[in-house]
Amino acid sequence: MFNESPLIFYLLLLGVVLAIYLFRRHRASQKASATYAAAAEAGLIEPPSLHPLIDPVECLGCGTCASACPEGNVISIIRGKAVLIEPTHCIGHGACAQACPTGAISLVFGTEQRGIDIPFVGEDFQTNVPGLYIAGELGGMGLIRNAIEQGRQAMEAIRAALVNEQSNYHDTFIIGAGPAGFAATLAAKQFGLDSVTVEQEALGGTVAHYPRGKLVMTAPVDLPIIGKVKIKDPSKERLLEFWDSVEKKSGVSICYDERVTDIKSIQGGFEVHTTKNIYNTKTVLLAIGRRGTPRKLEVPGEDLGKVVYRMIDPEQYAGRNVLIVGGGDSALEAAAEIGEQPGSKVILSYRNASFSRARQRNREKIEKFSADGTVEVIMESSVREIAPDHIVIEQKGEIHKAANDDVIICAGGILPTMFLKSIGIEVDTKFGTA
Ligand SMILES: Cc1cc2nc3c(=O)[nH]c(=O)nc-3n(C[C@H](O)[C@H](O)[C@H](O)COP(=O)(O)OP(=O)(O)OC[C@H]3O[C@@H](n4cnc5c(N)ncnc54)[C@H](O)[C@@H]3O)c2cc1C
Ligand code: SF4
Repeated sequence: MFNESPLIFYLLLLGVVLAIYLFRRHRASQKASATYAAAAEAGLIEPPSLHPLIDPVECLGCGTCASACPEGNVISIIRGKAVLIEPTHCIGHGACAQACPTGAISLVFGTEQRGIDIPFVGEDFQTNVPGLYIAGELGGMGLIRNAIEQGRQAMEAIRAALVNEQSNYHDTFIIGAGPAGFAATLAAKQFGLDSVTVEQEALGGTVAHYPRGKLVMTAPVDLPIIGKVKIKDPSKERLLEFWDSVEKKSGVSICYDERVTDIKSIQGGFEVHTTKNIYNTKTVLLAIGRRGTPRKLEVPGEDLGKVVYRMIDPEQYAGRNVLIVGGGDSALEAAAEIGEQPGSKVILSYRNASFSRARQRNREKIEKFSADGTVEVIMESSVREIAPDHIVIEQKGEIHKAANDDVIICAGGILPTMFLKSIGIEVDTKFGTA
């Protein structure tokens, strides 16, 4: 009797610890199921690029993959198996696949339901069209470090391929100033090439679109001209500031607010058509990423300076009349965040009858803000005109005119596939394969 007491005590303790563990696991599984259900309800179940495919037979449910993912709440365990619960948040780090002890994870593009178009790129970064090169995420390999590395290597390949003959063509023409295009631009300068870089938006590419304050996870990189750079856990703002200072110090020149609209093969190279100019060049490097070009409304006044295609900082809209167009998460988040700014007056215009493509939490917030007057929501409406001091919106034949200082259009992007095909680049559609 005297000897049994401690044993019973330890068994009881073990039972309590086990019960707490199972309870926590069950709760985490329920939470993960709810997150996945919300993503599925909003139709957000297709990962944008490279992502893990989990074999449920091999998966032990140990959760190592979930802990390894630097983005946080992307993979979780549901009923003992790993599941990609926020597919659209996956950016292809691949840390989960490396961490999995059973090899249950393979990294693939696309899903059975939705294919992803990957252009043909050779080992020297050249496409099937001689002289046309691709670097960065467009070629399928995501992440800042890979994009920088590829931008540099692609420029090395271009330099090696250039024939030294008299020509008034530029040596190379770089499209995009995200990490890949920026690194390529620095490399072109370092190699003494005659190059031009154009960017439809601003320096940084997709990085400039991350949510405010996002911690950027990136391993040390070798930046041309600058050398090895190791920035530990910087925010996106710090990383953009750093690139900005590199741009100034290195003396490279990038043509901003200029979009490439067409590339034609001509004798000795290419004719590149942009929204501002036509350039002749021997080679072209496409570093345009996979986000595409913002979709326009094509209405009068859209070319006014007050029209933008993403919200950067909600605070800049305090005290202003703002029109937001769109019905996805980015439109609803912009409307809610700007609506909360002191003195702002926000109109949210959407062409459909419901916000079915947005997450539930955003829909609920907008419903609340619509009810309390923080945001004026005009459903089944279209913008007819953007004037310097007002906007005109039509809703079921009725015309609304409202004072306006800023317009933010969140109507999605036009993916680059059509553009690639139109210039002769072969594209392979992947349905859940590497
Ligand atoms: C939310 C989110 C978080 C992420 N977090 C991380 C992270 O923490 N760490 C990490 O390593 N990676 C992260 N990534 C991935 C990383 O941002 C991308 O892999 C990387 O930016 C790809 O670089 P890129 O230069 O190939 O393309 P992009 O960065 O997409 O740049 C392409 C540029 O080309 C321009 N462009 C496109 N078409 C044209 C045209 N016709 N004319 C002129 N210019 C054009 C675009 O405006 C853009 O600036 C994240 C991605 C997302 C979406
Ligand atoms: S690390 Fe591998 S085995 Fe463990 S939960 Fe993730 S996929 Fe399953």
